[in-house]
Amino acid sequence: MTDIQDTVQLAQGLEASAKFVAEHVQMYKTFHQSPELSSEEHRTAEAIEARLDELGIEHFRSGKTGVVGLLSNGEGPVVGFRADTDGLPIAEETGLDYASTATGILPDGKEAPTMHGCGHDTHITAALAAAAYLSDRREAWQGTVVFLFQPGEETAYGAKAMVDDGLWDKAPRPDVVLAQHVMPMQAGKFSLRAGNMASLADSWRITVRGRQAHGSQPEVSLDPIVAAASMVMRLQTIVSRELSPNTPAVVTVGTFHAGLKENIIPETAEFSLNVRTPDEEVRTKVLGSIERIVAAEAQASGIGAPGIVEINRFPRLFNDAEHTDRVSKALKAGFGEDAVIAAPLGMGSEDAGWLGDAIGVPVVFWAFGGFAEADFADGASPAGNHSPQFAPDAELSVINGTGAAVAVLLEYLGR
Ligand code: ZN
Ligand code: ZN
Repeated sequence: MTDIQDTVQLAQGLEASAKFVAEHVQMYKTFHQSPELSSEEHRTAEAIEARLDELGIEHFRSGKTGVVGLLSNGEGPVVGFRADTDGLPIAEETGLDYASTATGILPDGKEAPTMHGCGHDTHITAALAAAAYLSDRREAWQGTVVFLFQPGEETAYGAKAMVDDGLWDKAPRPDVVLAQHVMPMQAGKFSLRAGNMASLADSWRITVRGRQAHGSQPEVSLDPIVAAASMVMRLQTIVSRELSPNTPAVVTVGTFHAGLKENIIPETAEFSLNVRTPDEEVRTKVLGSIERIVAAEAQASGIGAPGIVEINRFPRLFNDAEHTDRVSKALKAGFGEDAVIAAPLGMGSEDAGWLGDAIGVPVVFWAFGGFAEADFADGASPAGNHSPQFAPDAELSVINGTGAAVAVLLEYLGR
């Protein structure tokens, strides 16, 4: 395990005091206890604004519950630093004494337990701690940090909402946009790669409409279940038969709902699917294949064209090669030569890339470990993001998230 004292002495002479660490661990626990659902981060945004006020950092809202903090220190580079702020509709089962018992209201009006089950509370805290650290040591750097406290990451809403709300008309245009994410890796380890850090992702809901009838009279029905089942089966052939074995892609049908009673042929069947693709070209091809198959199967069943509704759409998360080298160098300087692991090509999704892509600015996104070495003893691995048992170590994740943020920001802004 990375010793805490070593870790806090990190990057370019960061000397975080025990008091600084303790204050931010407490801040982390407070955020952990009050997670809010995507696009409902009202109290979280207010808490971030209150802290920025304490630090004397100018801020404005963008994308309703998004907060942008502008930490300026004279002429120099401009760097965007993203921290996402939303929680998930999960009932926490970590057993921690600071576990969440909060609830929120889902878009369908139902109440749900909420949890920072993806660790975005570590991101908020690390960004605020980095802001505090940098505002305290203005002699060490020059330029501007645009802190981007982004809502709605889990629903692919937030980055786009901030951009659409005129983010880059109000904030100075950055030279690079940075973002980080806590992962079930050992504290002191970081993972990134040039190119795709995540995939493009599309979620669709498809409604197949037939004609309802008594189960004993199939001849007067148009059975949407059989039609939808054929669609689901045929969709499996897109990746297996239409794409090269060298092209990473996923088509997953994640929900399928139909029917009222065993002796009724229902009027509708509905399913939803999630698509992961590496780039726009493959994305266009796969989505086109889905539309073609769904329409053709409907025709084969003698029913009308199904309704297709987009649930959400994640843009690419593409790490610029040159800036990825620069970030790796900074992390190695701060945490040691073996601290940086080459990330595998993952099929996860993230909307942080849009904050840079929207204005043609390079992006770098890295993962940081937030777990103790003991969590990996004897080949074990801790529960991952989105698990009700996901429990990063409070102190280690705050220290390493903050250390990484400061190390990389000083790489760009240091005197
Ligand atoms: Zn997540
Ligand atoms: Zn996340």
